[in-house]
Amino acid sequence: MNRARAAESAESAESDMLVFKAIGKRYADGTQALSDVSLRVPAGQFCVLLGASGAGKSTLLRLVNGLDIATQGTVDVDGVRVQGSSLARIRPRVAMIHQQFNLVTRASVERNVLNGLLPTLPLWRALAALFPLPARRRACELIAAVGLGEEHLRRRVAELSGGQQQRVGIARAFMLDPAVVLADEPVASLDPRTSREIMTLLRSQSRQHAATVLCSLHQIDLAREFADRIVALRDGQVVFDGTPAAFDDASAVAIYAGSAPLQGPRPRPRLIAEAA
Ligand code: ADP
Repeated sequence: MNRARAAESAESAESDMLVFKAIGKRYADGTQALSDVSLRVPAGQFCVLLGASGAGKSTLLRLVNGLDIATQGTVDVDGVRVQGSSLARIRPRVAMIHQQFNLVTRASVERNVLNGLLPTLPLWRALAALFPLPARRRACELIAAVGLGEEHLRRRVAELSGGQQQRVGIARAFMLDPAVVLADEPVASLDPRTSREIMTLLRSQSRQHAATVLCSLHQIDLAREFADRIVALRDGQVVFDGTPAAFDDASAVAIYAGSAPLQGPRPRPRLIAEAA
């Protein structure tokens, strides 16, 4: 490698927040969820993982915070290898947003957002729900930033709409100022209009907090609209990696073409306009 190339690759390695190298993941029952996936995600990028159900998107996300461990290859988060001994360091820097929101529905909005601090609180404080004052202030600011009002602070999450619950999920995710946000089908349970609002909010919050986002979606329109980069998976392999502009209709068909049905026929690519 010449000096210029070496300098270039050293620079890109420094600015890569996530590095997946030759990843394979085989579950205990023999399911091969990922095969030979290599990916570098630069800091600050909004990277959408696109693919049909069962393509391996969630598995790839879970490898970042160690909820799953690769059976082959390595994952690095900001230069730190994901492995048992590093999880306590990595997890507070990686937030997760879930399809089903994963909130404590009987608890208040404020409490749910404060729960974003739990990975860093001593157990006695967590059990006693003793959150420091600056944390309460931050929770209030985040609740306002995601478009909820003061009247929502003490309201139980169960009383909110799905879109409002995901706003709480986003506020909770940013409590620890994460370097990485993993969003696992964050709008799959929402109607098309709310989906757009939530994606807009996720993108603006991640830009404001300079977070790197890895977001799985199955809606092609949303991926095209919100991603800096689209990585499409099919049967555990990367079949497209490029800009939304380069993701044409042929690429969309390729995500679904030739893949074996898991259980019954696979859904064809769903456009937001169709779902409306
Ligand atoms: P996606 O998020 O794209 O829907 P997943 O990553 O959830 O895909 O799943 C990829 C493949 O791995 C699928 O075949 C799925 O059934 C399988 N899988 C996911 N989790 C497990 C598990 N815990 N045990 C066995 N197989 C699993």
